[in-house]
Amino acid sequence: MPMLAVLAALLISATDPSPLCTGTPEQGALMACRTAPNAVITLGDDAGFTATFKADSVGRFVVGFSRDAPPNMTLRACADGGACAALPLSIAPHDYKIERIDGLPPGKVSTFSAAQLAHIRKSSTRKKAAFAIKADTDAYLAGFAKPVQKARISGFYGSQRVLNGKPKRPHMGMDFAVPKGTPIAAPAGGVVTLADPDLYFEGGTVFLDHGQGLVSVFMHMSSLDVHDGQVVKKGDILGKVGATGRATGPHLHWSLKWKNRYYVNPASALSLDVSPLR
Ligand SMILES: [Zn+2]
Repeated sequence: MPMLAVLAALLISATDPSPLCTGTPEQGALMACRTAPNAVITLGDDAGFTATFKADSVGRFVVGFSRDAPPNMTLRACADGGACAALPLSIAPHDYKIERIDGLPPGKVSTFSAAQLAHIRKSSTRKKAAFAIKADTDAYLAGFAKPVQKARISGFYGSQRVLNGKPKRPHMGMDFAVPKGTPIAAPAGGVVTLADPDLYFEGGTVFLDHGQGLVSVFMHMSSLDVHDGQVVKKGDILGKVGATGRATGPHLHWSLKWKNRYYVNPASALSLDVSPLR
């Protein structure tokens, strides 16, 4: 290629913001995309939902769709120079299950003592502060792997939960049924933004920020091997499976939050192809 043509190609790639993505637009899913460096990205729908954020310095970003994302959304990217490109998206619906759980102790469902309420408030404050942290990491670029192996999936993302006969908020994570004491491996690397052995509902909990606003939450752990601020690699052991907090038996609950906006499907992270972003 003549030198001028090479230069022209480089200039176009640096300013053309048209997003190129891997992954399928579906309720709860993730897509890994490329656009112009530092482009301003907007995800929106007709109902007025808008999320605005920036691609990184080489144009990478990850976009997530909520559990109840509408059928039509638009992903818009505007390059530094002002050129914009819009990508209309048809969001496939996800068929959610209904899960009934009976026999939960009443104190964990509806009636709380003053001490329990204080514990709940303290837990909520800690979570809020941790979710506000944005770790400086690109660890998601190595892709995601299951945090425990050979586990039966006992709870699915988005399921409508009915606890002791009462409809509750949907289940926003993935449950892995494994024995107490099973080691939990980091599904991707990142920075630990919260390591608390005793949150009221969640029990022993670890938050792990993978970059791009993707934060894993692991609940009900019997023991923790990491501390706040710790940098971990993919596969590092975070602690052990337990039944702490509001859990009927030992299992690992893994949820994944996007941009501190909503939870996305961890199964979508496991199948996400991030290789074009490397
Ligand atoms: Zn769960």
